[in-house]
Amino acid sequence: MIKNAEIIAVGSELLTPSRVDTNSLYLTELLNSIGIEVELKTIVGDSENRLEQVLREAIKRSELVIATGGLGPTEDDITKKVVARVIKKQMVLEERILERIQFRFRSRGLEMPANNARQALVPVGARILENPVGTAPGLWIEHEGCHILLLPGPPRELKVIFEASCMPRLTEFSGGIRLATQVFKVTGMTESRLDEIIAPIYTRYKNPTTTILAAAGEIHVHLIAKGKSEEDAKRILTDLADKIEYELGDFVFSRGEESLEQIVGYYLLMRQMTLAVAESCTGGLISQRITSVPGSSSYFLCGVTCYSNASKIDLAGIPPLLIEMNGAVSPEVAKGLAEGIRLKTGATIGVGVTGIAGPAGGSVNKPVGLVHIALALDNTVEHQEHRFGGDRERIRLWASQAALDMVRRKLI
Ligand code: AMP
Ligand code: MG
Repeated sequence: MIKNAEIIAVGSELLTPSRVDTNSLYLTELLNSIGIEVELKTIVGDSENRLEQVLREAIKRSELVIATGGLGPTEDDITKKVVARVIKKQMVLEERILERIQFRFRSRGLEMPANNARQALVPVGARILENPVGTAPGLWIEHEGCHILLLPGPPRELKVIFEASCMPRLTEFSGGIRLATQVFKVTGMTESRLDEIIAPIYTRYKNPTTTILAAAGEIHVHLIAKGKSEEDAKRILTDLADKIEYELGDFVFSRGEESLEQIVGYYLLMRQMTLAVAESCTGGLISQRITSVPGSSSYFLCGVTCYSNASKIDLAGIPPLLIEMNGAVSPEVAKGLAEGIRLKTGATIGVGVTGIAGPAGGSVNKPVGLVHIALALDNTVEHQEHRFGGDRERIRLWASQAALDMVRRKLI
């Protein structure tokens, strides 16, 4: 049975500020899904001595050791060599791997460089994990009760090998524990308010476990349940998930992977409505987010960034007097933008945003972070006033989030 694991990321580039070890995050997610906990992670440069030290310890203390990287054809790719030394095994040339590598080069009309033959050397007794998308195969070695997996560093290759050749076998070794997970994405509520509402519920449960992650303008509530079977895990999950969802109500915009802009697009499509936006302080961010969703052309008509007063008048049809009387950052101008862009484009819904993103330009009455958002539909215009904290980028992001959520709430 495998219950605990550790991951060793090999590569000097991972010790520089310019490269991040993302492989271990991916591996941890999949290992957790079958009940294997990652207890330790190490990053080692391409140094034989250091790697040898880390490997010796790892094999002693963990049931599963996954080393990623360092399987390439060059001198600094040392993982196999060091593993062979630690487990005291000879390296042998695997003809089958060599042929595959030669074939990969031939099929691209290239001659195989001699050093690629090194990738066909494996410690005696290692199980070979096919790599359909690269030259270096993965290896599965069993040594003194420890399972050692060696996987190539390029994330695309690692993922293919891990999912096809490792997960099925690891699931057998993991003692049959199954996980069920659920995410609730919430917007329009602060993290502390959210916790005030749901903490009294989730703290009563050890299983599922609840994690709250604040992301940009939204909060993600993650639930993970462990069970003896998939059904068992789902049953344990649903009990808590239903209660949390009930309490959070329509603050939950997604129960899965969808982004807020995807959800808004989904509702617009379902209701056969169209959208147009006139943005000042968000500078096109709302349009950008809406159009990042494939198929948005069927519901998004137009977005204008009207930064200057003249462009608010020209492009969104705001009466000049409205700006003169209230100032560009005002409920009246937000409403004017929403109605104006709706009328100009013939969209079902018009959205207008105006605010002060800072850092300069604030005043006592109109401080940095003040944002007015309006939504026009039929003959009605609704308006919200927000005071967002933080820097320019954060204020713009939260403003786009609030505007999208205003549309979502209108449509649900
Ligand atoms: P290697 O197998 O050491 O030749 O690694 C090849 C490439 O894979 C490196 O240049 C990185 O771009 C990438 N890579 C290696 N290790 C990792 C890791 N832990 N996370 C993400 N990318 C990695
Ligand atoms: Mg490397």
